[in-house]
Amino acid sequence: MRFPRRAVATDKEKVEKLIISAIERGVNYFDTAYIYPESEAVLGEVLAKNNVRSKVYLATKLPHGRCKSIEDAEKIFSEQLSRLRTDHIDYYLIHNISKPESWGKLKAIGIEEWIAAKKQNGQIGQIGFSFHGSQDEYMQLLDAYDWDFVQIQYNYMDENYQAGRAGVEKAAQKGLPVIVMEPLLGGKLATGLPREVDKIFKAANPERSAVSWAMSWLLDQSAVTVVLSGMNAMEQLDENIAIADLSEPGMLSAQEAAVFEPVAEAFKRHYKVDCTGCNYCMPCPSGVNIPGCFSAYNARYAMGYYAGMQMYVLNSGMSNKKGSNARSCTKCGACEKKCPQHIRIIAELEAVAKKMEPWYVRGAMAVVRKFM
Ligand code: SF4
Ligand code: SF4
Repeated sequence: MRFPRRAVATDKEKVEKLIISAIERGVNYFDTAYIYPESEAVLGEVLAKNNVRSKVYLATKLPHGRCKSIEDAEKIFSEQLSRLRTDHIDYYLIHNISKPESWGKLKAIGIEEWIAAKKQNGQIGQIGFSFHGSQDEYMQLLDAYDWDFVQIQYNYMDENYQAGRAGVEKAAQKGLPVIVMEPLLGGKLATGLPREVDKIFKAANPERSAVSWAMSWLLDQSAVTVVLSGMNAMEQLDENIAIADLSEPGMLSAQEAAVFEPVAEAFKRHYKVDCTGCNYCMPCPSGVNIPGCFSAYNARYAMGYYAGMQMYVLNSGMSNKKGSNARSCTKCGACEKKCPQHIRIIAELEAVAKKMEPWYVRGAMAVVRKFM
């Protein structure tokens, strides 16, 4: 998704150097998706040209919103094989399926039988789903099918957000590998940290970079199987490989592990709503992703406008056809009684809608939903 680009097209020369260098140094898992512009085709081209397909596991994703029938899924899958120049996908995901109802719709068109046939004939190795919804939706989805693996957003700032640590632990209890995306929160945990956060990290270990802290938090956890970091420059690849080479579960000392609590607290001092992401208020009968809205709203103040808006549009505005955004709240009041933090959820959601849903964001969300 984050392949380097030259003007409007992917910079194939740079991409090839990155991919081949990564493989030579032991990277063996490549994650792409049908909807990432040019990504599958460029990856397929590089792997075929260098004859290295057999050295890697390929992961790609089915855009389930485009599958009104099983024929749609079949057509997309065939196109993916052709783009990736392969006869099988090692790790196949239902892309961003954040609502149990969406899985219900796929079941109704026969997705389970389709997956079983694809696994049987070897075209799909492992089946999983990628996820950006709320924790209780994740738990329901996890139990809704006999998945082989899961892919979730997870990093030290998202410990209680989306699937969160509880989601990682539940997957591990089921014996499922956990593939982590957004380890650096789209780069926000790598650069531009609030000054107080930077100070805490430096005081704990001046040698470690912000990237090293964020990656180590994940690689320290035995339930984390793969960390997907969207590298688009050789320096990023070098840094990530150097960190991974020195990492193993349980490597953080007690002193190092203790640094994340004050760091998260320092981030949170910039927050507007004291939501802990506990999910007790969920589900909302109108489909509002309450903790998701608050988390993105807070990120806007702690990490900057673009970080917050990106989270908001992705996680709250577009996770289903109807939208899970703050403006969808009908003020029924069901959630407020359940919040242990006594947050005035209705009033706060109004503030979120005002700040996070200007006309151009509403317009963008409406366009994207049309294609879901
Ligand atoms: S008040 Fe709004 S957010 Fe809360 S449960 Fe009702 S519709 Fe959902
Ligand atoms: S119950 Fe309160 S603290 Fe918990 S997720 Fe909902 S709003 Fe946040």
